[in-house]
Amino acid sequence: SSILYNDQIIERDNVVEIEDRGYQFGDGVYEVIGVYDGEPLLMDEHMKRLKRSAREIQLTLPVEVNQLRKKLEELVQVNGLEEGIIYLQVSRGVAPRWHEFPSTDTQAVTVAYTREEERDNELEDQGATAVLTKDIRWLRCDIKTLNLLPNVLAKQKAVENNAIEAILHRGDTVTEASASNVFIVKNGELYTHPADNYILNGITRQKILQLCDELELKAHEETFTVDELFDADEVFISATKMDIAPILQVDGKTIGNGTPGNVTKQLVKEFRKLYEKKKA
Ligand code: PLP
Repeated sequence: SSILYNDQIIERDNVVEIEDRGYQFGDGVYEVIGVYDGEPLLMDEHMKRLKRSAREIQLTLPVEVNQLRKKLEELVQVNGLEEGIIYLQVSRGVAPRWHEFPSTDTQAVTVAYTREEERDNELEDQGATAVLTKDIRWLRCDIKTLNLLPNVLAKQKAVENNAIEAILHRGDTVTEASASNVFIVKNGELYTHPADNYILNGITRQKILQLCDELELKAHEETFTVDELFDADEVFISATKMDIAPILQVDGKTIGNGTPGNVTKQLVKEFRKLYEKKKA
């Protein structure tokens, strides 16, 4: 398949430079964009977040996001991708390895590729289990940077426990999960951590909040505790392409009645309409 390398679509090849700062320092930002029926979903929102992430680490994007967006759409076409994701990253470029920013003439390096991924409707309908683990990340989790080691370690713990996610907590407060946002439902109302420096403001999270508004479901962007998580009627996680996954058990303790709850099911149904209506 083909990849986007800076401003060109080329055959996938060995393009990694050993002194790429993304490779050596995790010095860069990224996005994962869902593709449904050959169409990227919520592209504007992803581009907006990319711009913000780049700005927050003082990285100058080498291209206008509108142009980048067109290139990504072209890549999807060229690869004939129907179901899957686009992975896009921009690193601070290739330069001799010194921690400080490289000289100003160093060009950021943009790379994108596509990956086929079938939709997991079963996960959305049946739910899964999660584990809890300490949030050991830095204090700028709002930036979608390439530095993901704490997330990798957390997800590994989940997998070793046959769970799909690791839900993170800082002290008593639930923040998010290793690669998704966390929502709880109590008495018909939703709660999710506010979009501050402790979480990544997920595009799926934002869309769910918008859907809640439209469905007149009360949603609070407020912190909740680990105890409140265990005591919730429903728990679900959200992320690109996975969309919404009901969580039925956390650390072996059953949430609610142990089946996907009504609010979660309603949101799953509404979320599907976002891409299914395109088919019609
Ligand atoms: N939180 C973290 C730490 C993530 O890595 C992700 C990415 O998948 C999310 C939340 C969900 O964000 P999005 O819905 O934009 O995929």
